[in-house]
Amino acid sequence: MEHTNDVTSPFAAVAELQSRMASADRILVGAGAGLSAAAGLSYFDHDVFRTYFPEMAARGYHFQYELVGMSDDDWTPGRKWAYWSTHIHYVRSVFPQAPLYSRLLELLSGHDYFVVTSNADRQFMRAGFPEQRLFEFQGHYDNMGCSAGCRETWIGLEDLETARTHIDHETFEVPDEFIPRCPRCGAYAEICFRGSDYRTHLDRYVSFVEDCHDSRLLLIELGVGFNTPGVIRWPFERITRAFPDAHLVRINAGYREPGYDRGHIEYPRELEGRVSVYDVDAAAVIDGLYAALTGRPSD
Ligand SMILES: [Zn+2]
Repeated sequence: MEHTNDVTSPFAAVAELQSRMASADRILVGAGAGLSAAAGLSYFDHDVFRTYFPEMAARGYHFQYELVGMSDDDWTPGRKWAYWSTHIHYVRSVFPQAPLYSRLLELLSGHDYFVVTSNADRQFMRAGFPEQRLFEFQGHYDNMGCSAGCRETWIGLEDLETARTHIDHETFEVPDEFIPRCPRCGAYAEICFRGSDYRTHLDRYVSFVEDCHDSRLLLIELGVGFNTPGVIRWPFERITRAFPDAHLVRINAGYREPGYDRGHIEYPRELEGRVSVYDVDAAAVIDGLYAALTGRPSD
């Protein structure tokens, strides 16, 4: 199948995906932060940060991603929980379930598909993706665990809400008595991302991939950049290389791999002819496919 590979054209991406989806036996979707950004959930949004983190904006921060990876050395427990409870409240309760994910689900329904995502924001779950077809590789925000290592994990949304509603807005700290604690041993809790069912979901992902070896497998990357390339980007390249009938379509606006000379999102040279790259917004492609396949506009 030949495609005019205009890497900046959403229409070209839609046309290629439409024909490849029609002929694929199985579809493996990898979704990164770029997909949620395309849906409007961006950790780089200065306006959202000023609105929901006025205390941290006043302390010289500008956007949420600056605060990722802050450690116990940087913050007191009270500050850490003020941050986490505010951040997760925004992601899980203020930001709505994004219609973009619902449209993606409708596009994939009827196909034998699986989704792996590096996003912890739960948008796939909220859109109704079946859990047996979804692997949140880096876990998700709902899981809380014990910081003392007693291996207890639980769904922590209620604990977070208690912490958030007791934030001292002068200090931007949660008072100690409202900091979430392990129900088993009483140590401070932590956002642990990976709950007790993580292994089950990982095994489902691995067996889906293993079963694809002799299939016409279509891999679709949506908004997968370079923050954590070991989660989706590099494994998808390895799967494409290893499986004879696999083809990878890479949709990722704006990210340009450092050091390459062709000026657009790239792939290893030995995968020439087996990867299609598009430097276009994932939302434009999903909306275009949705209109093409359902005959309905996306709005
Ligand atoms: Zn514990």
